[in-house]
Amino acid sequence: MTFSDFSLHPKLLRSVEQMGYTQPTPIQTQAIPPALAGRDVLACAMTGSGKTAAFVLPVLQRLMDGPKGITRALVLTPTRELAAQVQEQFRQLGKNTHLRSAEVFGGVAMRPQTRAFQTGVEIIVATPGRLLDHFQHPYARLEGLEVLVFDEADRMLDMGFLPDIRRILKHIPKPQQTLFFSATMPAPIAQLAKELLKNPLTINTERKAAPASGVTQAVYPVQQELKSALLLALLDSQITSAIVFTRTKHRANRLAEYLVKNGVKAERIHGNRSQNQRTEALAGFKSGKYRVLVATDIAARGIDVEALEHVVNFDVPAVPEDYIHRVGRTARAERTGEAFTFVAPDEEAQLKDIERAISKRLERVMLERFDYRAKPQGKLEVPVKERIAAIRQQKAQARANKAAKEGRSEPRTDGAKPRAAQPAQSGQGSKALTSTAGPASRRRRRR
Ligand code: AMP
Repeated sequence: MTFSDFSLHPKLLRSVEQMGYTQPTPIQTQAIPPALAGRDVLACAMTGSGKTAAFVLPVLQRLMDGPKGITRALVLTPTRELAAQVQEQFRQLGKNTHLRSAEVFGGVAMRPQTRAFQTGVEIIVATPGRLLDHFQHPYARLEGLEVLVFDEADRMLDMGFLPDIRRILKHIPKPQQTLFFSATMPAPIAQLAKELLKNPLTINTERKAAPASGVTQAVYPVQQELKSALLLALLDSQITSAIVFTRTKHRANRLAEYLVKNGVKAERIHGNRSQNQRTEALAGFKSGKYRVLVATDIAARGIDVEALEHVVNFDVPAVPEDYIHRVGRTARAERTGEAFTFVAPDEEAQLKDIERAISKRLERVMLERFDYRAKPQGKLEVPVKERIAAIRQQKAQARANKAAKEGRSEPRTDGAKPRAAQPAQSGQGSKALTSTAGPASRRRRRR
């Protein structure tokens, strides 16, 4: 089967060719024809399967006819990275059309997004939290909406977006067509799909979860404290570049620091990094400026790097779906890649769950000439208690310095006590601070 077997508009066929896609992937073969015919689609599809183009092409084709200058398609995604990625595919595959798309997510200014609503870009790709922020304003009515797409619906559930999604659904008109993509179908997602989809064409739901084919997977048993050294040794011997996943943001920071200290160009990407920092890290990794991108799971979805050869699970993912998604970063669209998972003795049980989910025992590998009995160089993770104690100590020191400094200054002529001796943040000022910080931090949490 080729793309010209679908009844795609010649302008879209041209952009498919310009993208270098020669053959549709299985999900595209199954989803594009019914979606072009206007049917609802419910698809179980992994990252790396080509699922994005499977909904982007039918949406573009639909919007090429009919009114312009109003938003007619809305795509909901769990993360900013995925939203940016999806919007990029709309831009590239739609470049021979006059259709416009915009991304709407938190961490960046509202104003350009507001303008996108006001000018009626035909396609909006959004994360739920920021979309709801816009919905508080009259410009974001989306009255002309026709198509609604859910991308990685299961991840939206994992991230606690289900209530937000229900709020969004109340705000928008009932779509004429809904395209629903999810890697797995946990019960709340299956329920949501059941409520929303009308006689959908269902694809792949019976398939057992498995990472994209073409990935060589291996497990490296290793003591927790030697994981950093093992990664360094693998970078010396067989890994040219890799995305490395850690369990926590803190571990991501510490690991990136460790790598840089040992001469490896590395950056990190996680939920505490600003949008600019994330974009810079990802662009730097894609361009080869950084050999290693250390990431937490939240960033895993949506990272699309052409020809990524290695994924390293520095920590065993807590749930099998996360393993499949992380490993899906490599061998995208049927290329080949390798996924290494470091397993400390206390992570064996999680690994067993993963092996059960993918119905496969993963090969255990030892790295030759690596000293598995070496003395650990230092803990990657400082225990929470110690971290809090260190922060407290730092703060106490800062307060003492401040007090000492103000104590040295000229005595005040009004007879008031030096400022350091006054209770911190009292009165009006602190109240104002709390009331502005409240909603903003609530919004941040929601996203
Ligand atoms: P996705 O699963 O949508 O994230 O797509 C994964 C990668 O596959 C992206 O880099 C797409 O550009 C690429 N891709 C999608 N469809 C095809 C195709 N038919 N042939 C080759 N690459 C594709």
